[in-house]
Amino acid sequence: MELPLLIAAIVAVALVIVVAGVIVSTNRTRRLASRRPSELPSASVPSVEPDADAPAPSSAEERAPEPAPDAPSIEAPERASTRMSRLRRRLAGSNNALASALLGLLARDRIDESTWDDVEETLITSDLGVGPTTELMGNLRRELSIDGVQDPAVARAKLRAELIRLVDPTLDRGLRITGADGQPGVVMVVGVNGTGKTTTIGKIARLLVAEGRTLVLGAADTFRAAAADQLATWGSRVGVQTVRGPEGGDPASVAFDAVAQGVAQGVDVVLVDTAGRLHTKTGLMDELGKIKRVIEKKAPVTEVLLVIDATTGQNGLIQARIFSDVVAVTGIVLTKLDGSAKGGIVVQVQRELGVPVKLIGLGEGADDLAPFTAEGFVDGLLGA
Ligand code: GDP
Ligand code: GDP
Ligand code: MG
Repeated sequence: MELPLLIAAIVAVALVIVVAGVIVSTNRTRRLASRRPSELPSASVPSVEPDADAPAPSSAEERAPEPAPDAPSIEAPERASTRMSRLRRRLAGSNNALASALLGLLARDRIDESTWDDVEETLITSDLGVGPTTELMGNLRRELSIDGVQDPAVARAKLRAELIRLVDPTLDRGLRITGADGQPGVVMVVGVNGTGKTTTIGKIARLLVAEGRTLVLGAADTFRAAAADQLATWGSRVGVQTVRGPEGGDPASVAFDAVAQGVAQGVDVVLVDTAGRLHTKTGLMDELGKIKRVIEKKAPVTEVLLVIDATTGQNGLIQARIFSDVVAVTGIVLTKLDGSAKGGIVVQVQRELGVPVKLIGLGEGADDLAPFTAEGFVDGLLGA
């Protein structure tokens, strides 16, 4: 199985980034988990939900890759196993202040009060938020003083456990890509400009193709001239068709056509790209709701992924709040965790929305996307 390996690799990578963020979200995620008892996570397969009994009627010919004169050959997306080890290295090598600070602190011979003060300060400055950090530190101090722990290995194990609790290993992080009654799963991808929506769709398409799924892409970003081309290029590289409309056309109409095409071809999944929009523009936000409603004349939307650029910190939180008011966001993709992002945002966003981080972007490369797991993320942070 490649997915478990992939997950493990992803987790390791995310860990470094997330260390700071992990601490925050325990309570909220618990609440979430209890809200959705039917969606228990499959621990070893975080990337896409298992879908063994879903029909996959479409043949390779039906997928009819869009003609792409300059890209005639179809790529084989990277396998999960090698992807994981590669991304793990990237996380380990990333310039993440939080992770390296924590690692340095925990490497001290003795863990004393000033070490904990330093850990707390590091966490608070990592986008984890004051509330979650305070909770985490309170729990740690209590446990460690009860046990009289000074041993760094024990302290480290307790910190790991608390961080995992905050990130919440019980959340279902599988992508909802199984449609009902033989219909395709429909994934809508939303977010502000430049967060990585189109890139993420391209990467998800590769993940799904690597798993043998059939799909159609919908270029419902009709706002920017090059947007549909960008998406179609991603699709054609792996032999996936992109449905597009006229520039400046009605995005809801393109989304509808893409889903209709997916239904007609009997593909497993339709991935719908949307134009970036500022969460402050009410009219554009309303359009998002309309796109979803129009799609659902054809088939239910099974997943709404909100893409957030992890480097934007608190602004990402504000975006999350407003987007989730307009469309029911079901999963978060945190991109650009390979850069200077502070991983604490993972915990804050999950708490804010009550929605799990499902995927993380770790670079601009075609296969630089990984499923998110709590343990993997925290272990990555702690260098386990
Ligand atoms: P959109 O406007 O939301 O569709 O954003 P795009 O998909 O066009 O991406 C905007 C920029 O972000 C591009 O240059 C991408 O290569 C880059 N990008 C997307 N995801 C990641 C990531 O995980 N890491 C890094 N470093 N860059 C990313
Ligand atoms: P309105 O703009 O407020 O009237 O919203 P509608 O729900 O009527 O849909 C607006 C746009 O979405 C239409 O102009 C169509 O382009 C598209 N649309 C809505 N329903 C359908 C449909 O059943 N088929 C197709 N192809 N497009 C649709
Ligand atoms: Mg885009």
